[in-house]
Amino acid sequence: MPQKLYFTVGPSELYPTLPAHIQEALDKKIGTISHRGKAFQDIFKNCVYQLRTLMNIPDTHHIFFLSSATEIWERILQNCVDQKSLHLVNGSFSKRFYEFAVELGKTPEKIQTDFGKGFFAKDIAIPNTCEAICVTQNETSSGVCMPLNEIYLLKQKAPNALLFVDSVSSVPYPDYDYKIVDSVFFSVQKCFGLPAGLGVWIVNEKCIEKANLLLAQKKSIGTYHSLPSLFGKAKDFQTPETPNVWNIFLLGKVAEDMNNKGIQQLRKETDTKAAMLYEYFNSSKNFSIAVSEPVHRSATTIVANTAINASEVNKKLEPYNMVVGSGYSSYKETQIRIANFPALSIEQTEKLIEALKKELQ
Ligand SMILES: *Cc1c(COP(=O)(O)O)cnc(C)c1O
Repeated sequence: MPQKLYFTVGPSELYPTLPAHIQEALDKKIGTISHRGKAFQDIFKNCVYQLRTLMNIPDTHHIFFLSSATEIWERILQNCVDQKSLHLVNGSFSKRFYEFAVELGKTPEKIQTDFGKGFFAKDIAIPNTCEAICVTQNETSSGVCMPLNEIYLLKQKAPNALLFVDSVSSVPYPDYDYKIVDSVFFSVQKCFGLPAGLGVWIVNEKCIEKANLLLAQKKSIGTYHSLPSLFGKAKDFQTPETPNVWNIFLLGKVAEDMNNKGIQQLRKETDTKAAMLYEYFNSSKNFSIAVSEPVHRSATTIVANTAINASEVNKKLEPYNMVVGSGYSSYKETQIRIANFPALSIEQTEKLIEALKKELQ
Protein backbone atom coordinates (compact mmCIF):
# COMPACT_ATOMS: atom_id res chain seq x y z
CA MET A 1 0.00 0.00 0.00
CA PRO A 2 1.39 3.40 -0.90
CA GLN A 3 1.71 5.72 2.08
CA LYS A 4 -0.69 8.60 2.49
CA LEU A 5 0.49 12.17 2.66
CA TYR A 6 -1.05 14.00 5.65
CA PHE A 7 -1.94 17.67 5.37
CA THR A 8 -3.54 17.45 8.83
CA VAL A 9 -2.67 20.13 11.38
CA GLY A 10 -1.54 17.88 14.23
CA PRO A 11 -0.40 15.27 14.48
CA SER A 12 1.02 16.07 11.09
CA GLU A 13 3.15 14.69 8.31
CA LEU A 14 6.53 13.68 9.70
CA TYR A 15 9.61 15.62 8.68
CA PRO A 16 11.18 13.85 5.66
CA THR A 17 14.60 13.33 7.28
CA LEU A 18 13.07 11.60 10.31
CA PRO A 19 13.65 7.95 9.27
CA ALA A 20 17.42 8.52 9.12
CA HIS A 21 17.40 10.26 12.52
CA ILE A 22 15.32 7.49 14.05
CA GLN A 23 17.79 4.94 12.71
CA GLU A 24 20.64 6.94 14.25
CA ALA A 25 18.73 7.06 17.56
CA LEU A 26 18.38 3.27 17.47
CA ASP A 27 22.04 2.80 16.58
CA LYS A 28 23.08 5.08 19.44
CA LYS A 29 20.65 3.37 21.84
CA ILE A 30 19.08 6.73 22.70
CA GLY A 31 16.12 4.95 24.32
CA THR A 32 18.39 3.25 26.80
CA ILE A 33 21.03 5.81 27.83
CA SER A 34 20.85 7.41 31.29
CA HIS A 35 19.31 10.86 31.49
CA ARG A 36 21.93 11.67 34.14
CA GLY A 37 24.92 10.95 31.92
CA LYS A 38 27.06 12.97 29.51
CA ALA A 39 25.46 11.49 26.38
CA PHE A 40 22.12 12.95 27.41
CA GLN A 41 23.66 16.28 28.38
CA ASP A 42 25.09 16.50 24.87
CA ILE A 43 21.67 15.75 23.34
CA PHE A 44 20.11 18.45 25.55
CA LYS A 45 22.85 20.95 24.63
CA ASN A 46 22.54 20.27 20.91
CA CYS A 47 18.76 20.64 20.93
CA VAL A 48 18.96 23.95 22.82
CA TYR A 49 21.75 25.20 20.55
CA GLN A 50 19.84 24.30 17.36
CA LEU A 51 16.62 25.92 18.64
CA ARG A 52 18.47 29.08 19.70
CA THR A 53 20.02 29.32 16.25
CA LEU A 54 16.80 28.58 14.37
CA MET A 55 14.55 30.87 16.39
CA ASN A 56 17.20 33.49 17.23
CA ILE A 57 16.60 33.05 20.97
CA PRO A 58 18.95 35.25 23.02
CA ASP A 59 20.66 34.31 26.33
CA THR A 60 18.04 36.30 28.22
CA HIS A 61 15.70 33.34 27.65
CA HIS A 62 15.95 29.74 28.84
CA ILE A 63 14.62 26.67 27.07
CA PHE A 64 12.89 23.92 29.05
CA PHE A 65 11.48 20.54 27.99
CA LEU A 66 8.07 19.43 29.24
CA SER A 67 5.56 16.87 28.04
CA SER A 68 3.19 19.00 25.93
CA ALA A 69 1.89 22.49 25.31
CA THR A 70 -1.17 21.58 27.36
CA GLU A 71 1.12 20.99 30.31
CA ILE A 72 2.84 24.31 29.68
CA TRP A 73 -0.51 26.17 29.95
CA GLU A 74 -0.88 24.76 33.45
CA ARG A 75 2.73 25.48 34.42
CA ILE A 76 2.45 29.10 33.25
CA LEU A 77 -0.61 29.65 35.41
CA GLN A 78 0.89 27.90 38.44
CA ASN A 79 4.28 29.63 38.23
CA CYS A 80 3.56 33.08 36.89
CA VAL A 81 0.02 34.02 37.92
CA ASP A 82 -1.15 34.62 41.47
CA GLN A 83 -4.67 35.84 40.59
CA LYS A 84 -5.24 37.49 37.26
CA SER A 85 -4.34 36.39 33.76
CA LEU A 86 -5.91 37.92 30.67
CA HIS A 87 -6.75 35.56 27.82
CA LEU A 88 -7.43 36.50 24.21
CA VAL A 89 -9.88 33.78 23.24
CA ASN A 90 -10.72 33.16 19.60
CA GLY A 91 -10.91 29.41 19.29
CA SER A 92 -10.76 26.22 21.26
CA PHE A 93 -7.08 26.23 22.20
CA SER A 94 -7.11 29.75 23.63
CA LYS A 95 -10.40 28.91 25.37
CA ARG A 96 -8.89 25.86 27.03
CA PHE A 97 -5.94 27.92 28.29
CA TYR A 98 -8.45 30.30 29.92
CA GLU A 99 -10.43 27.42 31.43
CA PHE A 100 -7.27 26.03 33.04
CA ALA A 101 -6.92 29.32 34.95
CA VAL A 102 -10.49 28.96 36.24
CA GLU A 103 -9.90 25.32 37.18
CA LEU A 104 -6.75 26.30 39.09
CA GLY A 105 -8.79 28.74 41.19
CA LYS A 106 -7.41 31.97 39.68
CA THR A 107 -9.59 34.91 38.66
CA PRO A 108 -8.78 35.20 34.96
CA GLU A 109 -10.44 37.48 32.44
CA LYS A 110 -11.08 36.72 28.81
CA ILE A 111 -11.75 38.78 25.74
CA GLN A 112 -13.54 36.69 23.19
CA THR A 113 -14.22 37.00 19.48
CA ASP A 114 -16.40 34.91 17.21
CA PHE A 115 -14.89 31.81 15.61
CA GLY A 116 -12.82 32.83 12.57
CA LYS A 117 -12.15 36.34 13.89
CA GLY A 118 -8.93 37.74 15.34
CA PHE A 119 -7.77 40.60 17.54
CA PHE A 120 -6.43 44.10 17.07
CA ALA A 121 -4.52 45.48 20.04
CA LYS A 122 -6.39 48.81 19.86
CA ASP A 123 -9.60 47.03 20.91
CA ILE A 124 -8.06 45.31 23.93
CA ALA A 125 -8.28 46.90 27.38
CA ILE A 126 -5.85 45.33 29.84
CA PRO A 127 -6.82 45.52 33.53
CA ASN A 128 -4.04 47.09 35.62
CA THR A 129 -4.08 44.08 37.96
CA CYS A 130 -3.24 41.80 35.04
CA GLU A 131 -0.16 39.68 35.76
CA ALA A 132 -0.03 37.73 32.50
CA ILE A 133 -1.29 38.36 28.99
CA CYS A 134 -1.96 35.03 27.27
CA VAL A 135 -2.10 35.12 23.49
CA THR A 136 -2.49 32.31 20.98
CA GLN A 137 -0.46 33.48 18.00
CA ASN A 138 -1.94 30.83 15.73
CA GLU A 139 -5.38 29.44 16.58
CA THR A 140 -5.13 25.99 15.05
CA SER A 141 -8.88 25.44 15.38
CA SER A 142 -9.93 28.42 13.23
CA GLY A 143 -6.85 29.35 11.17
CA VAL A 144 -6.70 32.82 12.70
CA CYS A 145 -3.32 34.31 13.57
CA MET A 146 -2.31 37.38 15.53
CA PRO A 147 0.29 39.50 13.72
CA LEU A 148 3.43 40.00 15.81
CA ASN A 149 3.22 43.80 15.82
CA GLU A 150 -0.28 43.52 17.34
CA ILE A 151 1.06 41.18 20.04
CA TYR A 152 3.87 43.64 20.82
CA LEU A 153 1.37 46.49 21.20
CA LEU A 154 -0.28 44.56 24.03
CA LYS A 155 2.98 44.65 25.97
CA GLN A 156 3.20 48.41 25.42
CA LYS A 157 -0.22 48.74 27.02
CA ALA A 158 0.78 46.74 30.08
CA PRO A 159 4.58 46.70 30.42
CA ASN A 160 4.43 45.09 33.86
CA ALA A 161 2.39 42.09 32.80
CA LEU A 162 4.26 39.05 31.51
CA LEU A 163 3.51 38.21 27.88
CA PHE A 164 2.96 34.51 27.06
CA VAL A 165 2.61 33.42 23.45
CA ASP A 166 1.18 30.04 22.48
CA SER A 167 2.93 29.46 19.15
CA VAL A 168 2.33 25.72 18.95
CA SER A 169 1.26 25.59 15.33
CA SER A 170 3.48 28.35 13.94
CA VAL A 171 7.01 28.04 15.39
CA PRO A 172 9.57 28.44 13.79
CA TYR A 173 7.81 30.62 11.21
CA PRO A 174 7.28 33.78 13.36
CA ASP A 175 10.40 35.87 14.00
CA TYR A 176 9.83 36.90 17.62
CA ASP A 177 11.39 39.90 19.28
CA TYR A 178 12.45 38.43 22.61
CA LYS A 179 13.02 41.90 24.05
CA ILE A 180 9.23 42.15 24.12
CA VAL A 181 7.99 38.59 24.50
CA ASP A 182 8.61 37.03 27.92
CA SER A 183 7.69 33.51 26.94
CA VAL A 184 6.91 31.44 23.85
CA PHE A 185 5.97 27.76 23.81
CA PHE A 186 5.20 24.98 21.37
CA SER A 187 4.95 21.23 21.00
CA VAL A 188 6.70 19.21 18.35
CA GLN A 189 3.95 17.35 16.48
CA LYS A 190 2.90 20.39 14.48
CA CYS A 191 5.51 22.41 12.57
CA PHE A 192 8.50 20.24 13.48
CA GLY A 193 6.92 17.10 12.04
CA LEU A 194 7.82 14.88 15.00
CA PRO A 195 5.80 12.34 16.96
CA ALA A 196 3.86 13.99 19.82
CA GLY A 197 4.96 13.99 23.45
CA LEU A 198 7.34 16.90 23.89
CA GLY A 199 6.58 20.52 24.81
CA VAL A 200 9.18 23.29 24.62
CA TRP A 201 8.90 26.28 26.96
CA ILE A 202 11.01 29.39 26.33
CA VAL A 203 11.03 31.78 29.31
CA ASN A 204 12.98 34.79 30.50
CA GLU A 205 14.26 35.63 33.98
CA LYS A 206 11.15 37.67 34.79
CA CYS A 207 9.02 34.53 34.60
CA ILE A 208 11.40 32.70 36.93
CA GLU A 209 11.47 35.68 39.31
CA LYS A 210 7.69 35.66 39.45
CA ALA A 211 7.67 31.95 40.34
CA ASN A 212 10.23 32.58 43.09
CA LEU A 213 8.12 35.45 44.40
CA LEU A 214 5.02 33.26 44.61
CA LEU A 215 7.09 30.56 46.30
CA ALA A 216 8.38 33.07 48.89
CA GLN A 217 4.74 33.94 49.59
CA LYS A 218 4.11 30.24 50.28
CA LYS A 219 1.90 29.83 47.22
CA SER A 220 1.89 26.51 45.39
CA ILE A 221 3.74 26.62 42.09
CA GLY A 222 3.59 22.87 41.48
CA THR A 223 6.37 20.38 42.02
CA TYR A 224 8.89 18.84 39.62
CA HIS A 225 8.00 21.06 36.65
CA SER A 226 7.99 24.35 38.56
CA LEU A 227 10.20 26.98 36.93
CA PRO A 228 12.85 26.93 39.71
CA SER A 229 13.02 23.14 39.42
CA LEU A 230 13.29 23.19 35.60
CA PHE A 231 15.85 26.01 35.77
CA GLY A 232 17.96 24.28 38.41
CA LYS A 233 18.25 21.14 36.30
CA ALA A 234 18.61 22.88 32.92
CA LYS A 235 21.74 24.67 34.22
CA ASP A 236 23.25 21.20 34.24
CA PHE A 237 21.66 20.23 30.87
CA GLN A 238 19.21 17.93 32.59
CA THR A 239 15.53 17.66 33.41
CA PRO A 240 13.88 16.97 36.80
CA GLU A 241 12.28 13.72 35.58
CA THR A 242 13.20 11.03 33.08
CA PRO A 243 12.32 13.01 29.98
CA ASN A 244 11.37 12.16 26.42
CA VAL A 245 15.05 11.73 25.51
CA TRP A 246 14.14 10.21 22.16
CA ASN A 247 12.16 13.26 21.06
CA ILE A 248 14.68 15.78 22.44
CA PHE A 249 17.27 14.02 20.28
CA LEU A 250 15.01 14.08 17.20
CA LEU A 251 14.02 17.71 17.72
CA GLY A 252 17.69 18.68 17.84
CA LYS A 253 18.24 16.82 14.56
CA VAL A 254 15.23 18.29 12.74
CA ALA A 255 16.06 21.80 13.99
CA GLU A 256 19.59 21.22 12.64
CA ASP A 257 18.15 20.23 9.25
CA MET A 258 16.06 23.38 9.28
CA ASN A 259 19.15 25.43 10.14
CA ASN A 260 20.99 23.85 7.24
CA LYS A 261 18.16 24.80 4.92
CA GLY A 262 18.08 28.27 6.50
CA ILE A 263 15.24 29.91 8.38
CA GLN A 264 14.78 32.59 5.72
CA GLN A 265 14.31 29.93 3.05
CA LEU A 266 11.89 28.05 5.30
CA ARG A 267 9.84 31.22 5.83
CA LYS A 268 9.91 32.01 2.13
CA GLU A 269 8.63 28.55 1.24
CA THR A 270 5.92 28.85 3.89
CA ASP A 271 4.80 32.16 2.34
CA THR A 272 4.83 30.67 -1.15
CA LYS A 273 2.70 27.65 -0.17
CA ALA A 274 0.27 29.82 1.84
CA ALA A 275 -0.21 32.15 -1.13
CA MET A 276 -0.86 29.17 -3.42
CA LEU A 277 -3.47 27.68 -1.09
CA TYR A 278 -5.28 30.95 -0.38
CA GLU A 279 -5.28 31.82 -4.06
CA TYR A 280 -6.83 28.47 -4.90
CA PHE A 281 -9.52 28.71 -2.21
CA ASN A 282 -10.32 32.22 -3.35
CA SER A 283 -10.99 31.07 -6.91
CA SER A 284 -12.53 27.66 -6.19
CA LYS A 285 -16.23 26.88 -6.68
CA ASN A 286 -16.41 24.50 -3.75
CA PHE A 287 -14.21 26.29 -1.23
CA SER A 288 -13.93 29.78 0.24
CA ILE A 289 -11.39 31.28 2.62
CA ALA A 290 -12.73 30.97 6.19
CA VAL A 291 -10.94 33.95 7.77
CA SER A 292 -12.39 37.13 6.29
CA GLU A 293 -9.79 39.60 7.60
CA PRO A 294 -6.63 39.20 5.45
CA VAL A 295 -4.11 40.13 8.18
CA HIS A 296 -5.61 37.45 10.44
CA ARG A 297 -5.15 34.66 7.92
CA SER A 298 -2.63 32.18 9.26
CA ALA A 299 0.38 31.30 7.12
CA THR A 300 0.74 27.86 8.72
CA THR A 301 -2.87 26.69 9.19
CA ILE A 302 -5.01 27.35 6.14
CA VAL A 303 -8.75 26.99 6.77
CA ALA A 304 -11.46 26.96 4.10
CA ASN A 305 -15.23 26.61 4.17
CA THR A 306 -16.32 23.72 2.03
CA ALA A 307 -19.64 23.29 0.18
CA ILE A 308 -19.36 19.52 0.24
CA ASN A 309 -18.65 17.71 3.51
CA ALA A 310 -15.01 17.53 4.64
CA SER A 311 -15.29 13.73 4.81
CA GLU A 312 -16.39 13.77 1.12
CA VAL A 313 -13.37 15.92 0.26
CA ASN A 314 -11.13 13.31 1.84
CA LYS A 315 -12.93 10.53 -0.08
CA LYS A 316 -12.15 12.36 -3.30
CA LEU A 317 -8.50 12.61 -2.23
CA GLU A 318 -8.22 8.90 -1.47
CA PRO A 319 -7.01 7.86 -4.95
CA TYR A 320 -4.29 10.52 -4.64
CA ASN A 321 -3.23 9.16 -1.23
CA MET A 322 -3.67 12.54 0.40
CA VAL A 323 -5.52 13.55 3.55
CA VAL A 324 -6.56 17.06 4.63
CA GLY A 325 -7.67 18.01 8.13
CA SER A 326 -11.39 18.25 8.85
CA GLY A 327 -12.84 21.34 10.51
CA TYR A 328 -12.64 21.73 14.26
CA SER A 329 -15.48 20.40 16.43
CA SER A 330 -18.82 21.76 15.16
CA TYR A 331 -17.07 22.81 11.91
CA LYS A 332 -15.95 19.22 11.33
CA GLU A 333 -17.79 18.83 8.01
CA THR A 334 -18.17 22.46 6.91
CA GLN A 335 -14.48 23.40 6.96
CA ILE A 336 -11.20 21.82 5.99
CA ARG A 337 -7.85 22.70 7.57
CA ILE A 338 -4.58 22.34 5.72
CA ALA A 339 -1.22 22.25 7.43
CA ASN A 340 1.33 24.49 5.78
CA PHE A 341 4.21 23.08 7.79
CA PRO A 342 7.88 22.71 6.79
CA ALA A 343 7.51 18.93 6.37
CA LEU A 344 5.37 19.52 3.27
CA SER A 345 7.10 20.77 0.16
CA ILE A 346 5.95 23.28 -2.45
CA GLU A 347 5.69 20.40 -4.91
CA GLN A 348 3.47 18.34 -2.59
CA THR A 349 1.25 21.35 -1.96
CA GLU A 350 0.98 21.92 -5.72
CA LYS A 351 -0.09 18.29 -6.15
CA LEU A 352 -2.77 18.69 -3.48
CA ILE A 353 -4.15 21.79 -5.18
CA GLU A 354 -4.14 20.01 -8.56
CA ALA A 355 -6.07 17.08 -7.07
CA LEU A 356 -8.61 19.37 -5.40
CA LYS A 357 -9.03 21.37 -8.63
CA LYS A 358 -9.59 18.24 -10.64
CA GLU A 359 -12.10 16.72 -8.23
CA LEU A 360 -13.86 19.80 -6.89
CA GLN A 361 -12.85 22.74 -9.10
C1 LIG B 1 -2.01 21.50 19.43
C2 LIG B 1 -2.10 22.77 20.18
C3 LIG B 1 -1.96 22.82 21.59
C4 LIG B 1 -1.83 21.57 22.43
O1 LIG B 1 -0.68 20.87 22.15
P1 LIG B 1 -0.43 19.46 22.89
O2 LIG B 1 0.88 19.02 22.41
O3 LIG B 1 -1.58 18.57 22.47
O4 LIG B 1 -0.49 19.73 24.34
C5 LIG B 1 -2.01 24.03 22.21
N1 LIG B 1 -2.17 25.19 21.51
C6 LIG B 1 -2.31 25.18 20.17
C7 LIG B 1 -2.50 26.47 19.47
C8 LIG B 1 -2.28 23.98 19.47
O5 LIG B 1 -2.41 23.97 18.15
